[in-house]
Amino acid sequence: MSVQYRPVCAAHAVEMRCARNDFRVVFRSVAFAHEVQSGDLWSCPVGGEQVVIGWGNGALAHHSEPDFEVFLASADMEVTR
Ligand SMILES: [Zn+2]
Repeated sequence: MSVQYRPVCAAHAVEMRCARNDFRVVFRSVAFAHEVQSGDLWSCPVGGEQVVIGWGNGALAHHSEPDFEVFLASADMEVTR
């Protein structure tokens, strides 16, 4: 995916660098996982702060899909909403 942004670290006033594409995040409630999305992991070259941004158009998979467990297993982290 082409990137039209470059985050800046607010703590160190430097441009962050893209550390990894296709960084997968599970968005979940307390009750269950809802969807898996793919973003880009960026990090600060000075302090190492990290953010995940650059989501594509929609989720890779929703909980109602039959192969959702496969996508859950591929996730790098979880975010509880
Ligand atoms: Zn920083």
